[in-house]
Order: sequence, then C-alpha cells, then structure tokens
Amino acid sequence: MAGEDLRDILFLCALQNAVKHGGVPQAGAVVGMVMSAHPEFRPRAKEVAALAKEAISAVAAISSDNRVAQLQARAPEMYDAIYAKHEHRKVLPDLEFAEQGVVMRFAPNPSGPLHIGHARAAVLNDAYVKQYGGRYILRIEDTDPKRVDPDAYELVKEDIAWMGLGITETVTQSERLPLYYNLCRQLIEKGGAYVCTCDNEHFKELKQAKTACPCRDKSVGQNLSLWEKMLDHTFKEGEATVRIKTDLLHPDPAMRDFPAFRILDSPPHPKVQAHVYPLMNFSVVADDHLLGVTHVIRGKDHIANTRRQRYIYDHFGWKVPVYRHYGRMGIEGVVLSTSQMRRGINEGTYTGWDDIRLGTLRALARRGISPDAVRNAVLAIGIGDTDISFSWDNLYAENKKIVDPVANRYFFVPDPVTAQVAGAQPHTAHAMLHPGDPSAGTRTLAFEGTVLLPGREITPEVTMVRLKDLFNVKIAWNGNIPTFSYAGESLPEARAAKAPIIQWLPAQDSVNCTLLTQEGGISGACEPAVKQELGRVVQFERVGFVKIDTVGNDGVKAYFTHK
Ligand code: GLU
Repeated sequence: MAGEDLRDILFLCALQNAVKHGGVPQAGAVVGMVMSAHPEFRPRAKEVAALAKEAISAVAAISSDNRVAQLQARAPEMYDAIYAKHEHRKVLPDLEFAEQGVVMRFAPNPSGPLHIGHARAAVLNDAYVKQYGGRYILRIEDTDPKRVDPDAYELVKEDIAWMGLGITETVTQSERLPLYYNLCRQLIEKGGAYVCTCDNEHFKELKQAKTACPCRDKSVGQNLSLWEKMLDHTFKEGEATVRIKTDLLHPDPAMRDFPAFRILDSPPHPKVQAHVYPLMNFSVVADDHLLGVTHVIRGKDHIANTRRQRYIYDHFGWKVPVYRHYGRMGIEGVVLSTSQMRRGINEGTYTGWDDIRLGTLRALARRGISPDAVRNAVLAIGIGDTDISFSWDNLYAENKKIVDPVANRYFFVPDPVTAQVAGAQPHTAHAMLHPGDPSAGTRTLAFEGTVLLPGREITPEVTMVRLKDLFNVKIAWNGNIPTFSYAGESLPEARAAKAPIIQWLPAQDSVNCTLLTQEGGISGACEPAVKQELGRVVQFERVGFVKIDTVGNDGVKAYFTHK
C-alpha cells in the first residue's frame, strides 16, 4: 500500500477519534486503531507511529465543527460507526407511531449551562431519533427575558457539541415572535383565547371560585382590538394578558384559563425588542406544531403543562404529539440550581461553571467524565416514570469502561516523604504505561539513591515495602525515625513478608502535583511524563483515574475522576 493511503487512513482514524472523544487523540490510540483494522501495517510500526503524529497535528488544526463535516464528507461510514454501538444497544422501549421516522426536539432555556438533568432529556430524545431516523431540533426557549443569560446561548451550544447530539436544525424562539403573534390572532378569531384586563389578584379569586371573569365573554372583534392594543403598547406591563379558554370547572385551578401571552418591558431581552411575550405553554405548542414534532420525551414535572397544552391543540384542531414523561431524578452531591451556581461564581465560592462541585456537564468534562459515559448512564436510566436518584456509581462505571482501556498509568505520591535507600545501586525501573496494552510502551524511572514515598504508608508497623517495579526496601524504626535499606528484588520475598507494594518517585526527577477532589486538594508529586498528558485522563496507580487539568511551572494540577 502506498504511503499516501497510509497517511489517509491515519488521518481518518485520528479524525474519527477526535470527533468521537471531542479532543485531539493520542498517537497510541490512532496507531492502535490502524493496526487492528490493517494488520498488514504491523511490520511498519515505526513509520506508522511517525505518520500518526502528522495526522494528529493535521486534525488538531481543524476546528471541531469542521471535523464533523470533514468526517461525514470523507468517510460517512466512520462517522456512523461512532454511533453504531448505541443503535445496537436497544435499551429504550419502542415508541408508538415511530416506524416512519420521528421529529423530536431538545428545548432548553438559555439560563445557564446544561447539567446532568438536561442531559437526560437531550440524550433520550437523541437516542430515539437515532433509533428511528428523522430530525432532531434544538429549540432555544428564550421567551422569558427574566430567565435568559446572554452567555448561555453559547454555553448551551458548547454543551450540546460536547454531548455529541445529532441536532439537525436549531431554532431560537425569540426570533419567532411574529409567528406566535399571528397564531394568537388566529386563536382569538376561533374563540379559543381572550384578552383579560382584570387585575391579577381579582382574576385569581374568580378562578378559585370557578367563575368567569368579565373579559371572557367579550366578542372576537373586541378581543382582536384589545390584542392590537397589547402589541402597540397602549397597554402597559401588567395591564393585559391573553388567556386560553379552558374549563373553569376543572378540578385543578391551574388548568383554568391559564395565560398565554403577557406584557413585559423589563428586563429587556438580549436578542429582540419586544413588549409582548408568549408564555411557555403557548410557544411550546406553537413550535411543536409548526416544526412537525411527532414525539416529546420530557420529565413528569411537565405533566400539568401537557394537560394545559392539550387545550391549545384542541382549539386549533391540531394533532397532538406522542408524549412520554419520565420520572423525577434526584441528583445528590453537586449544585444544580442555576441561580445558586451563578451566585457562588460571582462571590468567588466556585471557580466558574466548570467548578467540580457543580453538576454541569462542563464540570463533569473537567473531571474527566466522557460524554459517552453520560450518554450510556442516561440511557441505562431510561424513560421509566418511577422517581429515582441519579447513581454516580453507574456513571463512574460507564466512564471506567471508556477510560480504563486507554488511560496511561503513572505514579502519584501523596504527601511525600523523602527516603534515602542505603545499599542500593542506581537502577532504572521500567513500568508499563498500560498493563493491558504492551504496545503502549513503558516509562522509565531512574533510581539514584533517594525516593519520595507516600507519607501515610510509612508508619512504624511497616518494616518492609516493595517499591513498585523496582525493589524491596527494609524499614528500621528508631522511635519515629525510619531508616531505609535495600532488601533485594525478589517479589516472592516481598509477598511472603506481606510488604505493601507502593508507588514511589525518584527524588531527583518528579514534579509537584496537586490532586483536586470535590472534598478538597491533596498535594503530592508525580512522574514528569504526566506533563505530556495535559487534557487527558490517566490513572494514578492505586489512587484512581484523574484528568490532567493544568501543567505549569509550579507543577501539575489534576482532577480526581473516580476510582
Ligand atoms: N424549555 C422547557 C424546559 O426546559 C422544556 C419544554 C418542554 O420540554 O416542553 O423545561
């Protein structure tokens, strides 16, 4: 095979890996992909490794949006393969009326970045579109200016890209106000809505008493002119509301003539100048209808809205989509409330939207959780209507399946103590980068007499340790003062002496490393080679998986991912 072909294969593998994992791949991963698909290149391992680096640089130079486009154009089967494993995992129950394809949507409010709760709606709808084929609409629901954070438009987009959703089109509701106004006019003409100018408190009392307000019986003509007065600013904020005619005798007062449009002048909307805004139930129905949405998967907290929305469908004579309402999901251990997060960020309690104590997707990403793990964990939860609490353990188990086969292993020594080992010759330890994958190679640690050992392992009852991949060390105690001496290389001897096998670092060749967990930081040291793993998840042996977050002059900062 010509060099050009090999270059091409490597480029496409690197590109597929980057699209799938949302970052630039490691050379080892790309080489591994090529070698397993094309064993004929195995004898040319050196050349393949060198060309892999070129391919990775070429991919790194492409923006992430363009990566998807290029992969789809040049190797559509490789793009599809990224999702193939989900399609074959039929974890979700069938949807009725879906065989001909579906149109579904994910409809977040741009009030902050997305969190695990959003991921459930986003991934379930996405999975169904992938299962049945069809369109997947991202609908930005920004018609409540009180709940819009101008930065969130971008944050939401980034979070969606991270999740790898198969969005086919995006609409933003604030750009569609004329459509809603037009439908409102039609609904008034049909007698399905009216303009209510009652004082809010007064309306509430009437509603509780199952009594119509005086506005309900106005003629269509009167209502149309009142509607115009809402739009032309004759009515000011709070002076008029459009209400949907429902059932005043409905046992649930919240169903009775609920509001569909209101006037709001402050805060101003960051994207449009408007005086009249649709409320959620109206804009959701309008768009589900106009965009041809066939199936809606959303939380049980929307059941009352589904009931309200049905009135609007009935007035218009529109077909109602198929709904599924999944149960509530409690998420413990992280902060999820957008206002609480924002306050904490402003006050300096949190470092930003990706502070690892938050439940945002970007916080998970920062900790080294892969989008596929989030996806698989959410799919495993499914669309059942039982209320559950989110299992972090399941998420971690899913993530481990992804990172364990590829994460390089390193030594991290927490709270290090310095130990001079008497009687040992200089020695080079070769430790495997990955115990399950010899092709990943080894790392070398040069012993020159003095090592760093984990402080909490060196306690007076410990009289022998084995430094992993090196040799055994005897510890003699004089009161609280240990002395260390060489005790041979025999692993069986170490085992017989029940010597703990511990991590160590050459004192002359280590870097400071702070390991940050949700509970706080652990200071220590790690192998210098960790500096080359910036942005990746590695395993600190016996500690767990960690994501290398920052590499600077003062050392390495890593986030704890999970055991
Ligand atoms: N924007 C609504 C929300 O985030 C979703 C509306 C819906 O799913 O119908 O709660």
